[in-house]
Amino acid sequence: MQRRTFLAASAAALYSLALPAARAAESRKVVVIGAGIIGASIAYHLAKRGASVTVLEKIRPAAGTTEKSFAWLNAFSKKPHPYYEMNHRGIAGWHRVQQELSDGMLPLQWGGCVQWFDDDQSVARVRDAVRQHESWGYPSQMIDPARVPRLLPDVTPGTMRGAAFNDIEGTVNPSVAANALLQGAQRLGAQVEFPVEVEGFELSKSRVTKVRTNGGAIDADSIVIAAGNASPELARPLGLTVALKNSPGLLAHTAPRPIVLERLAFGPGANIKQNPDGSIVTGASFGGTPGVEATREIGESLLRNAQRYLPALAGVPLDNITLGYRVMPADGYPIIGASKTVPNAYVAAMHSGMTLAPLVGELVAMEVLDGIRVDLLETFRPDRFA
Ligand SMILES: Cc1cc2nc3c(=O)[nH]c(=O)nc-3n(C[C@H](O)[C@H](O)[C@H](O)COP(=O)(O)OP(=O)(O)OC[C@H]3O[C@@H](n4cnc5c(N)ncnc54)[C@H](O)[C@@H]3O)c2cc1C
Repeated sequence: MQRRTFLAASAAALYSLALPAARAAESRKVVVIGAGIIGASIAYHLAKRGASVTVLEKIRPAAGTTEKSFAWLNAFSKKPHPYYEMNHRGIAGWHRVQQELSDGMLPLQWGGCVQWFDDDQSVARVRDAVRQHESWGYPSQMIDPARVPRLLPDVTPGTMRGAAFNDIEGTVNPSVAANALLQGAQRLGAQVEFPVEVEGFELSKSRVTKVRTNGGAIDADSIVIAAGNASPELARPLGLTVALKNSPGLLAHTAPRPIVLERLAFGPGANIKQNPDGSIVTGASFGGTPGVEATREIGESLLRNAQRYLPALAGVPLDNITLGYRVMPADGYPIIGASKTVPNAYVAAMHSGMTLAPLVGELVAMEVLDGIRVDLLETFRPDRFA
């Protein structure tokens, strides 16, 4: 068979296979609860597949954890392998979504992440992580500290015992990203409604038939709970266990400034980034913050802390400080999947949601619309907590 004829025949065969699934997707009413980055991405990918999507959001898009996120898009030091793999593919997913949304709706900063250390213990720990990730095919490397000022010309790193560079990583303004995905979904016909609070569900024959809200009830063929820290209460009556733990995090933000950072800069005790709009964001660590209070004084001290490494911050006023509660599963790993007892109810709750959102949106849309199970998600099912 000639190549063109073969391709045409293959395409026809594929089309006839795809057609019933496409029709089924188009007639499916899927209600997504929550318009953070996870709900926004799921809604976009469901709408792309032709589903009739309604997003219900209690406050406004990104108002939960998402707008308080640092939004480092990374797979570095993520393990074991399936979790690393999800995050690596999450980074690739952002490039895809950026292209699909086009016309500059989704400005991402790609330039990598430079980390430097002033003690040998941290250098040894990071060297191990770099070796592990390189063996998995992640372009991570230890670098000569002399390269740090070349990669970050506006940074004064101080004493360095070692440094690492992950050049495929990046960042995004989390609210801009969630809104861009929602707009993408709306262009494909999705409805985004807020403020609307979901209060519960009506069931018939072990299936959700309606979503009850403070504004009335909405018909649903399937529902996806992407309500961040509110997911456990919504999911429990549907046979879904979402075990989360408390993990607050503080970040200081400036107003937009001239660009001084073209990549993420992580020094001892200060992580700093600059959003594509020029606003600078900094926090002291990626762990939970003890004794949290989001006062102006704490915000100003976070800025002064970062100014040690970024002299351009001198005299720059604090715009705002955010206190975000990570959507942190009890074991740290995503909770994604359908209920065994109410099969048309699905949940997606996770930390690192900024990195994971494009991939999770794509895979959840496949599982919800095609009734399949994606291998990569098998490690992360809600049943592990039941
Ligand atoms: C300080 C901090 C730093 C972080 N840094 C990173 C990072 O560098 N990289 C990374 O990948 N991730 C990071 N994260 C994690 C990431 O931000 C989260 O995983 C992600 O934002 C979770 O998104 P979500 O959509 O699941 O939840 P949310 O953003 O909380 O969205 C849930 C939405 O559901 C709505 N909702 C709740 N209840 C209802 C209801 N009954 N009816 C209707 N709507 C409802 C809420 O209003 C909310 O808007 C960080 C988080 C924090 C706090």
